[in-house]
Amino acid sequence: MSERLGPVGDLSPDEAAAKTQAARKAAQTWRRASVAQRAAALRGVWKAVVARRAECVAVIHEETGKPPLEAELVEFGSAALLVDYFLANAERLLGERAVWTPWFFANKRAAVRRLPRGVVGIIAPWNMPFLIPFGDSFCAMLAGNAVLLKPSEWTTRTALWLESVVSATGLLPEGLLTVVPGRGGAGEAVIDASDLVMFTGSTATGRAVAARAGAQLKPAVLELGGKHPMIVCADAPLERAAAAAVWGGLSNNGQVCVGVERVFVEAEVHEAFTSLVRARVASLRVEPGPDAELGRFVLPPQIDKVQAQLEDARQKGALVSGGEILDRAGLRMAPAVVLNCSMDMAVMTEETFGPVIPIMKVSRAEDAVALANAGAEGLAASVWTRDADRADRLVAALEAGMVGINEPGTHYALGSLPFGGVKASGLWRRHGDEGLLALTQAQSIIEHEWPADAPDPWWFPRETWVAPLLRRLLGLP
Ligand code: NDP
Repeated sequence: MSERLGPVGDLSPDEAAAKTQAARKAAQTWRRASVAQRAAALRGVWKAVVARRAECVAVIHEETGKPPLEAELVEFGSAALLVDYFLANAERLLGERAVWTPWFFANKRAAVRRLPRGVVGIIAPWNMPFLIPFGDSFCAMLAGNAVLLKPSEWTTRTALWLESVVSATGLLPEGLLTVVPGRGGAGEAVIDASDLVMFTGSTATGRAVAARAGAQLKPAVLELGGKHPMIVCADAPLERAAAAAVWGGLSNNGQVCVGVERVFVEAEVHEAFTSLVRARVASLRVEPGPDAELGRFVLPPQIDKVQAQLEDARQKGALVSGGEILDRAGLRMAPAVVLNCSMDMAVMTEETFGPVIPIMKVSRAEDAVALANAGAEGLAASVWTRDADRADRLVAALEAGMVGINEPGTHYALGSLPFGGVKASGLWRRHGDEGLLALTQAQSIIEHEWPADAPDPWWFPRETWVAPLLRRLLGLP
């Protein structure tokens, strides 16, 4: 078992104020850099970060128990894909763009310029301690902002590693990426010091963050919890579906917001599917070690919360295989497959965030869609079928911000896709065109071109002959 590190303490108010000031100053310098200059500097920063990734992977492993290979492939691999996408699209998205003008104003030029917000406050969770803080910071800085990053108290060392490596490159103004360690109070200080808040975490905290930001008229992008329903039709590619349930449900010890949280399977293939899932789970390497495939819980109370969900399911008639505590002090639990599930069980309706795959038999996938839509969350969902038309219909009916067709949820790594949820799973999106643009403000420009010295016809003085002419030109019958 790797030794678990406790939370890092809060900053003093003076220290927090100094960090905020440094970020503001850096934002003033950085906003004057062109998109090309920002992209070039950030390319250099990424090169430095990725070259030293082994150090970061070790810190992540220490802080969270995540298997090193998983930290490298998922966190750094996804970051690499995001960096590629946003660097390739920075100019298209962030450069000044000429826009349409009506012929009535054919003598004017119209354009939209993207201005940085200023200081973006990023409040991050502990489950992807590198990927979420880095990905959000990278996009915010590319968009011309400084970043105040408040990591989870449980993964602060990973964020401090990032801050020190970025700073050591000397490629960015000092303080452009500043970590504000601490607990919830530090998060509140970051909201107060920022121009836009980018929050990833639980729905409950998200509401508090939105309320605080809203009271100051600051926008808050909220990426909150989910309860991914995986819906398996009778004609699904069953081997892939079973492998996806195991990977989607158990990777990162089940602590993934878009991870598979429950599986609905059509009756015809229920038995075949569950056998495949159980066989795959049985073959996982769960013992700690260099080739371990499962990690541990990050937060101590989480192990009991998940155990309580399993007990609730057992009492209501579910068959739980696995799920025993392997090492309480080390926060390790055997992965569990829960059969015979029904919608009165917490494991089917509340976010589990643990290594559990609950499976419920349904007669038709359409019933599963209705059951899933009845929940408060709407983050990720997936449908599994070889029938493209049925997949389209199911996807269209799902209340979810992100859906996969024979795909468990790889949306985060595709920078081209907006990432986020509907209903209680969030507001706004990160990534995609809209996610990057949300980190900026539009400045709309009209430039009068000709005749240089003449007033416009609808200005004063309004001669009597002007109104009929203008009505005709403006299309007012
Ligand atoms: P929390 O909501 O507990 O915390 C998230 C962050 O907010 C932490 O840095 C936390 O600090 C901070 N915080 C706590 N209270 C406040 C406050 N009053 N004001 C400002 N900030 C505050 O979530 P977890 O860290 O436990 O993360 C797990 C949750 O995140 C799950 O629900 C998961 O589904 C969700 N998640 C969503 C994702 C998405 O993109 N939709 C992606 C990943 C996770 P501290 O921890 O130090 O108290």
